[in-house]
Amino acid sequence: QDGRIVSKRRVGCFAYSIVGEELKISSQYESLKKMRSWGFKVPDYSVISGSLSDVFNYLDKWDKDRFNLPYEIDGIVIKVNSFDHQFNLGYTAKAPRWAVAFKFNSEQIKTKLLSVEYQVGRTGAITPVANLKPVLLSGTTVKRASLHNSDQIKKFSLRLGDTVLIEKGGEIIPKIVSVDDNNSRVKREIIKFILQCPSCGTQLIRIKGEAQHYCPNSNFCDPQNIGKIQHFVSRKAMNIDGLGNERIALFYRQKIISNIADLYSISPESLRELDGMGDRSIKKLFDSIESSKNRPFHKVLFGLGIRHVGETVALKLTNTFKSIDEIISLNIESLISVNEIGEKIAKSIVDYFQDSDNIDVLNKLKDAGLIFSIQEKSKSVNNRLSNKKIIVTGTFSSSRDELKDKILFLGGTISSSISKNIDFIICGENPGPTKIEKANQLGLKIISEVDFYEMIQT
Ligand SMILES: [Zn+2]
Repeated sequence: QDGRIVSKRRVGCFAYSIVGEELKISSQYESLKKMRSWGFKVPDYSVISGSLSDVFNYLDKWDKDRFNLPYEIDGIVIKVNSFDHQFNLGYTAKAPRWAVAFKFNSEQIKTKLLSVEYQVGRTGAITPVANLKPVLLSGTTVKRASLHNSDQIKKFSLRLGDTVLIEKGGEIIPKIVSVDDNNSRVKREIIKFILQCPSCGTQLIRIKGEAQHYCPNSNFCDPQNIGKIQHFVSRKAMNIDGLGNERIALFYRQKIISNIADLYSISPESLRELDGMGDRSIKKLFDSIESSKNRPFHKVLFGLGIRHVGETVALKLTNTFKSIDEIISLNIESLISVNEIGEKIAKSIVDYFQDSDNIDVLNKLKDAGLIFSIQEKSKSVNNRLSNKKIIVTGTFSSSRDELKDKILFLGGTISSSISKNIDFIICGENPGPTKIEKANQLGLKIISEVDFYEMIQT
């Protein structure tokens, strides 16, 4: 979210491979040496192994020694050294046949469950969080673990005071793996999931088929309101700088803003009294709010934070329907007729626009000048892919024909053979492995379906 904070973290980067046409190298090991000679940071511990038993010995060694490294590793990659051999082995649909990742077991540790608290997300979803007796795990002190939903509590029959085994997986927040079962446990009561929203007290609901409980009081529940504003200003939505999560919460508590539309009518005076808001940061914030008015329709739609309407769904909607008024007028049936939009999403969209508070906010955003329709396409826009040679590979969320129609409509040419003359490749799921490999060798540009739709829309 905030680049300045990230820049203070000492982020490092190790290089593992290079791609190029005239590198004059023929193996993985040589490529590491070359990169080191260019000044890149390359891991010092790579070795060429002569036999499988060497490989296993190496894995055993680092399973213990990894704790002495100045950084954390979660595994080791074993590759076939020779590029010729790599080429002959090729790829499966998902991965190269000449490389494999070995993962160490994640570190686990026991600690005590002290309490459970409940967080309310911007869509009203309730997430239980376990507060733990602090313990050191993989180099950081762990105090909390996510419990995801009420099923998780039931699964372990969790009781306060339980001794739990926790593990840090791929996620930042550790999870509970198991519970120490003992006789004294059964005397204590199993944790009861809350029935009311911890913030506004509204009776929680659970939608059939979903694991999460929700607070349905979507417009008058503080954490939901704050979360919605945080989502709206985020980089993938309106990209408003200078409004971190803490500051949004502060503005909300000070009643400077109570919903996303209020961002466009903040008075500079109301900010001057706040700590840390000098003239410069106020000007920066207003500039950023002003430029958010140029964000394209699909970003605005995504920014509204309609449940289940993520980036891809927002793009799909704005590609199919040309204005917010058109979308508001749709019923569930016409929404479902759009590829990949199911009943759950359709119902959520219809519900959102049936709420008069949401329509009020929407009208204020319109008055502020935000973009709520696809801009009239000029001739040049319709030709924006002219002279472009494009390859399509893999499967897509919309049909491949739909994608091809779009390319042809915008003046592009679809090609089936890879050469240097190709402008870019749109790559879906399970692409042709040889195509991708060849494309990489030629240094061609590979983009995703979402990238493509963004490209033709903005
Ligand atoms: Zn609530």
